[in-house]
Amino acid sequence: MTEIRLAEKRRTIHVMVAHVTAPTAALLDVLPAWVTLLRAPNPGPMTLDGTNTWILRDHGVVIDPGPLDEGHLAAIAEYAPIRRILVTHGHFDHVEGAARLSELLGGVPVAAADPAHCIDSEPVHDDNGIQVLAVPGHTSDSVAFVVDDVVFTGDTILGRGTTVVAWPDGNLGDYLASLEKLEALGKVPVLPGHGPALADCAAAARFYRDHRLARLDQVRATGSRDAQRIVEIVYADVDRALWPAAEASVRAQLAYLELTP
Ligand SMILES: [Zn+2]
Repeated sequence: MTEIRLAEKRRTIHVMVAHVTAPTAALLDVLPAWVTLLRAPNPGPMTLDGTNTWILRDHGVVIDPGPLDEGHLAAIAEYAPIRRILVTHGHFDHVEGAARLSELLGGVPVAAADPAHCIDSEPVHDDNGIQVLAVPGHTSDSVAFVVDDVVFTGDTILGRGTTVVAWPDGNLGDYLASLEKLEALGKVPVLPGHGPALADCAAAARFYRDHRLARLDQVRATGSRDAQRIVEIVYADVDRALWPAAEASVRAQLAYLELTP
């Protein structure tokens, strides 16, 4: 990439109209000593480098088992004893391997915010120093887990890029309120569902909110109500593989704009 294009890119990120694929806040240098990250081998446009599976060794807890990949699940199971599997939300790339992992670990419970979105799970609750924070928006069932001044954010805040508000299950008004909740946690490390860990939850949440509001302005400015057409205009610079996801976000934005004139 030429100097000029790089400069252009920096400028557009600065005014927050570009699709953001770079980290949105400073990276965390070192993970907390009690956490292990196992990244699942499912990279893709929606999963970045793959789903992050977090093992809270002191708690005997796994957050987000990831896809049904025997090698990945066997690597997690090596951290037994594990007494509980938690999921941040019911998307396939986070929960597909949950039932099999439970089996590998001798039938430990799987807990999710909405058991209807995760087969054979029970309702999640605060437990053993792990606080459940409802953060709907990316999906209706998204939760974050706050543990010792660290927050596991699932797909609500990612390590790189911004997330999709997966309309109609996702809701932009809810999402903006959830970002406020996460911002209120202050400058704590973010251990996300995809991408690298970030150093400052409040900074990342503010960036996400500003990016969303900038996108809303762009959608408004098109004067259109046609989601596909809006994607062509507003997301012109974005990899087309992401356009279906962008369309889901645009539909969420149109729904939001109708509710909030
Ligand atoms: Zn995901």
